[in-house]
Amino acid sequence: MTVAAILSSKGRDVMTVEVDTSIREAVHILAERRIGAIVVADSFRRILGIVSERDIVRALSRSGVEVLDGSVSSIMTVKVVTCSEIDTINHVMERMTEGRFRHLPVVEEGRLAGIVSIGDVVKARIQQVEQEAEEMRTYIAMA
Ligand code: AMP
Repeated sequence: MTVAAILSSKGRDVMTVEVDTSIREAVHILAERRIGAIVVADSFRRILGIVSERDIVRALSRSGVEVLDGSVSSIMTVKVVTCSEIDTINHVMERMTEGRFRHLPVVEEGRLAGIVSIGDVVKARIQQVEQEAEEMRTYIAMA
């Protein structure tokens, strides 16, 4: 199973913000949309960074609530690891485990084309295992 299969069931919409968006606004978006990370992108949907709830918690612990008035650019991770639609679920899981993050933006031709979270990957993996078990049961019943 590939990233393309996950995107075709969950959709390709990705919440993005501009670099000068305040952290306060990012907090509202995360809460309202019930998501864990926001991609910071330019008007051409090229990725500039990613801000996760963990970055915000760390900044609050370090600098207090005043940090909320700063911009997302001050806390975002700039070196963003991405994947493409043809990558397999196993490959994506490896990248998330190695990098210790739970979000992987999908990039096609240099532009943001979707995002997969650890929850999407686990859901897809469970479906895959169930399908393989069903195929095995059918095969045994026919033997
Ligand atoms: P997360 O587990 O996704 O909430 O993120 C944990 C940390 O990794 C935060 O500092 C994020 O900014 C960073 N992060 C999240 N996703 C990525 C990614 N795809 N590439 C690089 N860093 C990331």
